[in-house]
Order: sequence, then structure tokens, then C-alpha cells
Amino acid sequence: MSSDKTEKKNILITDRFSHEAFLTLSQQPFLQVHKTPFTDLREVDVSDVHGLITRSRTLIDDKFFSRAKKLQVIITATSGFDHIDLKAAEKWGVTVMFTPNANIESATQQTWALVLACANKISQAHRALKAGTWDRDAVTGFELNKKTYGIVGLGRIGRRVSEIAQAFGMNVIAYDPYCEEAQFRDSGVERVAYEEILKGSDVLSFHVPLTTETHHMLNRSHFEYIHRGMILVNTSRGSVVHEQDLCEALENNWIAGVGLDVFEKEPLPRNSKLLNYPNVVVTPHCGANTQDAFAKASEQAALKMIRFFVDSSTSDTLPPKAAWYGALPPWKKD
Ligand code: NAD
Repeated sequence: MSSDKTEKKNILITDRFSHEAFLTLSQQPFLQVHKTPFTDLREVDVSDVHGLITRSRTLIDDKFFSRAKKLQVIITATSGFDHIDLKAAEKWGVTVMFTPNANIESATQQTWALVLACANKISQAHRALKAGTWDRDAVTGFELNKKTYGIVGLGRIGRRVSEIAQAFGMNVIAYDPYCEEAQFRDSGVERVAYEEILKGSDVLSFHVPLTTETHHMLNRSHFEYIHRGMILVNTSRGSVVHEQDLCEALENNWIAGVGLDVFEKEPLPRNSKLLNYPNVVVTPHCGANTQDAFAKASEQAALKMIRFFVDSSTSDTLPPKAAWYGALPPWKKD
């Protein structure tokens, strides 16, 4: 489409989007920009929408595409993409792009906030002190220096996390079957097998997309032999870790501390057992939730949308790697 700028294209924005990026889009004479307060689009009329900007709370399934007959492009202002049925997008001929570079720093920072909270027992110390207990022995931490940091998924965030681990003087190992050897070499990270990373890491964090391969890739069969007393952090996607099995591992005292930003079900149900363990630190999926990441993701999404309708140009299209395509999760969301 696109070089024809006489017909205005309807752009629908769901979820949070920066005011500046909204203005950038609105100033384009060939775009008509609309914003919906709903993140659930099932009841929203999308029949005239040509371009959609969204985030991970909005599920885009086959039914959505069947209602959005004029849709040409979706841009998700996120690094994750498991909320979009990419096979359906291909079937309906809709281009999908994401903003994978906008969240690297924020997700890395969130990962490290959780690692440090666990290593120094910040959350336990904070709660105890506010409750009037001054007990230093109860919150004895451990030094990261000279320990081993294991990274599962040596992509954008995994590599940034590894740089900081190295700054702490940690030995960094990683498991990523899709990552080139040069990437390991350039990052100064040793490539290891999955079993080895689980057995050899004092701190272990996950930075993988949610696919059929990564779904529950940490479960009971692994908890049985993981390095005892490790710190485990997940800021990728909740379903990467089998939560029930994690609870059992915690009850067996196999893990010293857990930091979770993502959960199998979000929002995390109030009766989740994970809320009961003193050595589990939880945050409400806010790895990308900084003003900076929000501004960058919105701006990048706006620019991608404009370029698409100016000359059909695309960047950061999904799925990101052909090899993963076969491993995209079967679409099972309502
Ligand atoms: P990325 O694509 O740059 O890196 C992902 C890495 O995982 C790649 O190197 C890939 O080869 C590897 N990988 C794929 N399948 C694998 C498997 N089966 N086993 C091991 N490694 C595998 O992605 P990224 O930007 O680093 O982000 C990683 C994930 O973090 C995103 O997909 C997203 O779900 C999540 N994320 C969460 C937040 C948050 O708010 N908590 C913010 C940003 C990103």
C-alpha cells in the first residue's frame, strides 16, 4: 500500500503509549490515529483498522484477524511476542513487527534488581526491619564475586546481563542452542549444555522467548539435580518455569532465593503459593516498566508504523528467527 497517501490509514493504539509518540503519529497527514482504552479488543470494532499498535496485554488471535479485514500491520511495543498468533498473522497476510531494543536496559536492570535482592536478602531485611526486628543473622547474604552466573538465552538481554555479571567478577556460562559461537566468544561467555548450567550456576536467570521448547523448560526433572542453594531469576515469561514444581523445590529447600517478574498466570492470583515463601521476591511483570523503556518502545513503534505506510519498509519483523518458527507455541489462549 502505501505510497498512496491520499487515503488515510486508520491506526488503532491499545494500551499505554507515550504522548510524544502519539503526536508524532497524529502529525502524519496520511494517518488517522485512534486510541482505545481497552486492552481486550474482543468487543472493539476493528473492521476499519489498517495498523495496530499494541503491547503484551492484548491477545491477538485468529478471530481477531478475521474481524480486522483491512489490517496490514501490527507493531507490538514489546520484546516478547507470545501474545500474538504469528501463524494466524501469516495466514491473514499481516506484517508483525516488535521493538526488541527498547527494553534491553530495563529488563536487565530488573533482572539485576532481583538477583541482588535475593543475594543480599533485601526484601526479607526490609520487611523484618519495618516490622521492628533488627536481626542481622537472619539476613546473611552471599557475595557474587568469583561465583558462577548461568544465563539461559544469550540474546539481547542475556548478553547485557552477562556484562554486569562480569563486572561483579563472576564467571559467566550460558546455554543457547541458537546463538552463534562468535556471540559467546565476543561476550567472554562459556557455552555449556543445559544440564551443566543447571548443575553449575550459583545464580541462574532465564532470557528466552516463550516457545514450545522453552515452555516449562525448568521443571521437576531439573530441580532434582540443580545446584543446591542457587539463586533463580526469571524475567522472561512465566511459563518457562513450571511454577508448581518450583514450589516443591522451594519446600525442599533446594533453592536459596527466587526472583520472579513473570508468572504462568498474570496477574498473579492472590492465592498463589509463591506469595508465601519468604525467600521469593516477586514483581508484577515490570521488566519493561521504566519511563525510558516506555518512551523508547512508543517512539520506535510510531516510527515503524510511519515507515511502513510511507514505503512499506519493515524492521524487526516477527518471528525473529526462522529456526524458532517451528517452536512457536501452539495458540491456546481464549
Ligand atoms: P532475544 O531474542 O534477543 O534473545 C532470546 C535468546 O533466547 C536468543 O539468543 C535465542 O537464541 C535464545 N533461545 C531461543 N530458544 C531457546 C531455547 N530453547 N533454549 C535456550 N535459548 C533459546 O530476546 P531478548 O530481547 O533478550 O528478550 C528475551 C525475552 O525476555 C523476550 O522474549 C521476552 O519474553 C522477555 N522480556 C521480558 C520483559 C519483562 O517485562 N519482564 C522485558 C523484556 C523482555
